[in-house]
Amino acid sequence: MSEGQNSRIHRKDYAAPQHLVDSVDLVFQLDPAETVVHATMRVRRNPSVEPTEGLALHGDELELRAVSVDGIALAEDEFEADSEGLRIHRVPDAFELRTEVAISPERNTKLMGLYTSSGAFCTQCEAEGFRRITYALDRPDVMSRYTTRIEADKANYPVLLSNGNRVGEGELPDGRHWVKWEDPFRKPGYLFALVAGDLVCHRGAFTTASGRAVDLEIWVESENADKCEHALASLQAAMRWDEETYGLEYDLDVYMIVAVNDFNMGAMENKGLNIFNSKFVLAKPSTATDDDYEGIESVVAHEYFHNWTGNRVTCRDWFQLTLKEGLTVFRDQEFSADMISPAVQRIKDVTRLRTAQFAEDAGPLAHPIRPESYIEMNNFYTATVYEKGAEVVRIYQTLFGKDGFRKGLRHYLESHDGSAVTCDDFRESMAEANGADLTQLERWYAQAGTPTVRARGTWDAEASRYSLTLSQSQRVMPKQAAPLPLPIPVRVGLLSPGGSEIPGSARTLELTAEEQSFSFEGVGERPIASIGRGFSAPIRLEVERGLDELAFLMAHDTDAFSRWESGQELAKRVLLGLVNEVQAGRPLQLEPLLVDAFAKVLRDASLDGSIKSLTLKLPSEELLSQELSAVDPDAVHAARSFVVRELALALRSDWRETYDRHAAGSDAVTKPEVDRRRIKSRALWYLVALEEPETIALATQQFGAATGMTDYEAAFLGLVDLVCPETDAAIASFHARWKNEPLVLDKWFRMQAMSSASNVFDRVVALAEHPDFTLANPNRARSLLYAFAAGNPVGFHRPDGAAYRFVADQILELDRINPQVASRIVSSFNQWKRYEPRRGALMRAELERIASTLSISKDVREIVERAIQG
Ligand SMILES: [Zn+2]
Repeated sequence: MSEGQNSRIHRKDYAAPQHLVDSVDLVFQLDPAETVVHATMRVRRNPSVEPTEGLALHGDELELRAVSVDGIALAEDEFEADSEGLRIHRVPDAFELRTEVAISPERNTKLMGLYTSSGAFCTQCEAEGFRRITYALDRPDVMSRYTTRIEADKANYPVLLSNGNRVGEGELPDGRHWVKWEDPFRKPGYLFALVAGDLVCHRGAFTTASGRAVDLEIWVESENADKCEHALASLQAAMRWDEETYGLEYDLDVYMIVAVNDFNMGAMENKGLNIFNSKFVLAKPSTATDDDYEGIESVVAHEYFHNWTGNRVTCRDWFQLTLKEGLTVFRDQEFSADMISPAVQRIKDVTRLRTAQFAEDAGPLAHPIRPESYIEMNNFYTATVYEKGAEVVRIYQTLFGKDGFRKGLRHYLESHDGSAVTCDDFRESMAEANGADLTQLERWYAQAGTPTVRARGTWDAEASRYSLTLSQSQRVMPKQAAPLPLPIPVRVGLLSPGGSEIPGSARTLELTAEEQSFSFEGVGERPIASIGRGFSAPIRLEVERGLDELAFLMAHDTDAFSRWESGQELAKRVLLGLVNEVQAGRPLQLEPLLVDAFAKVLRDASLDGSIKSLTLKLPSEELLSQELSAVDPDAVHAARSFVVRELALALRSDWRETYDRHAAGSDAVTKPEVDRRRIKSRALWYLVALEEPETIALATQQFGAATGMTDYEAAFLGLVDLVCPETDAAIASFHARWKNEPLVLDKWFRMQAMSSASNVFDRVVALAEHPDFTLANPNRARSLLYAFAAGNPVGFHRPDGAAYRFVADQILELDRINPQVASRIVSSFNQWKRYEPRRGALMRAELERIASTLSISKDVREIVERAIQG
């Protein structure tokens, strides 16, 4: 079943599998250089499809040693095998297939299938990695029962793990041993997992609501044994939350998490045996920041929630990826909102969506949350499928409320438990459970692009009526039918001129046509409308209003998210105005309204430190660039730097007073301490931007004295934007202190790569030659290259194109090692058409240079060719 190089796969071509596989019994003889895999599968024809004579199995870089059907070895003319597949010309209706293959885990630098990481074996099989372990029907709608026997050298690999429950173990000659695992749940191959290594276990326990005792095991290298407590606590909190919120319990006797240093993704939800990028497991206050703690809590919960939404009910085909990912991201967002604070979580989610997904949706790789075609599935693990997918799931909850959503989710899981289904099945379950017609909602799955909603309000004093007209429009995609109106819930509320909410005015408006008007009766004074509360749909909202109205909403809105949103909109308008002034060569002046608004927030004792810090953060250069038609990164940077400096100057004593008031505390990761550190870090950042000896000394002092990573990183972040001896000293001391802690050293690379210092490009080129830099480790490659290309607009887009050339060279080298990571980084060139013509041409030239390199992977080729076509 080889799919020739670069063939495109379409959703409309889906066909049910010819064969089903009831059981898969695997035996692994582990060896880093050559591992032998024996597979025994019970195969039968799928009774619901037209029969064919032969059997076709997927494979990728496998060396076939033996193949038999019902115990009889096949003759050479009875099958064809190559590195991409195994085709048996004639098979009975039901039979036992046995294969033996050899693979080389230590040479597997793609990190898909079975590979080695820091001396241990581990696997990653989603999306199509299982076929790199053995010949298989490697598609999510073929679900089987698995047993796994692992044999390995006992001294080097004392711990042998796989999915399900451990059912046997024993000794073998020559210092080897074996363990057998049995997974009672049917699953597709992408959920298979195996780990073998010299690991230690951090243990915990959980008793489910119905009284089942579950062992919780977090497996790590011995030097990380003291960094597992937070991941364990997060897992227990997630298990409890899913029971309380949706009535969903865990279903095996053991739940294992393994931390791995070399991992392409964040983490993987394999049944009963999650494999994690160590970044999302390991934490203690001296090595992990408050944001790292929140990231771990969210990813641990996400993978746990997949046990129901992904594993018990999985996807029929990979076009349905958002069925499990959009839903599970939504679930982890709701969990984090309950754990942290709903407003803080919503601000983080929306910022991430706008930064990554809105950009994707506006560029050449725009695709619906349920894509129509792909060449390499790994390229569709995107912000659109995940983050926008989660926003589409949120629409159901906005329409039906939390209770209606819970009813629909339970109905979906009960109707489809143990099967592989589609996004349509989910939508139907939601409709059935809530007695609603959700036909129009399908358009959210089918149409790409971010819709724009324009809002226009009028007040009729005589009739005491306020009317709000909403209209929607969407970008017309190349080669696509004209988009149809989407169902868009818009949460609104009205404020009186005095600043209080008009009773009964908070509503969810359902915009389903191109344009609709909604009226509010009994409105005796001209109201100020708060529109799009809680970011009730993934849209761009355009409301005609003055800066004073935004400042009013920032001060008075009853919805915490909307207060932040109004502040961001106010800052964005001011900043975009200044970008114009920079480009026109006019002198810059800061709008006093913005200074006033910032001062009010800074002095407001009722706001917690996290909300305050988020509100006092200006929109990023990436977000500002999205608003421009011919992006000039230097002008954007100049405008934003000007505002930062002016705000620092105008409120200097407030920043200093805020810093001093929040300076002392403990390193504990508790809400009051986290809030305290957030506002303290924000204050320090503005102070350092003044570049005065006194403020540089403040940062240097904090950097030297910090015992917790949050304070340490905050001080370094300030210093690394400067060019001065204190910066050089901090860079050297950071490295000397943390050179043996890979996750902390990643931060050292990342923060330097994202620095706005004038010499950043030279620093980045030197870092690529640093002995601690390697392209073979995804975290390390991303901390330098992705951080620089995607997170440092002014450095990456330097006008001479040298940084484009440098990053493209690195991508070509990385692609030979790990195409999946290379194709992520190459996406940084996708937006070339949106830049001013000189830079756009330089970016395009690098895309063409990459495309003309014959040996590039299909991962990278799919991205660059679509980017060039625009
Ligand atoms: Zn996921």
